[in-house]
Amino acid sequence: MGAIKDAVDLITQLKTSVSDRKILAALVPIEQHVLEAQKENFALQQETSDLQRSRSDEVDTLKAETLELKRQLSELQAKQNAQPDAEFNPKLGVYVESSTGFHYCPSCRHDGKWSPMQTRQHGWQCSCGKFFENPENPSPEILRQQAKPNW
Ligand SMILES: [Zn+2]
Repeated sequence: MGAIKDAVDLITQLKTSVSDRKILAALVPIEQHVLEAQKENFALQQETSDLQRSRSDEVDTLKAETLELKRQLSELQAKQNAQPDAEFNPKLGVYVESSTGFHYCPSCRHDGKWSPMQTRQHGWQCSCGKFFENPENPSPEILRQQAKPNW
């Protein structure tokens, strides 16, 4: 922009100081080209500022999206933390979390509820009321039933 303005100023200066008609005539197309260059330069500046504006809008949108994704991520992480890493144990018929040794009720687990059952002498008691017998340590009642002669 500075160089173009300098050229325009120089031409204006020449036009006032030169009296030779031939030189003045030669200056006309030069002046037109310089004015054209000034117009093009102005249009380019306009375009650049439009681009900067839309780029800053895009940056704002991306920032908002990133924030929302971060929020969703932390929500998912919180959910994941709330769910123990428990696997179904077909022998016991319950879910067992190996890291803690906690047992989880399969019915409640399917409802999305994860609270460890209470460990009893012969099994596990869920807060929903279900009791899961531990086949590795059955109650005397179960043993009596199993010992009954089968006639
Ligand atoms: Zn339950």
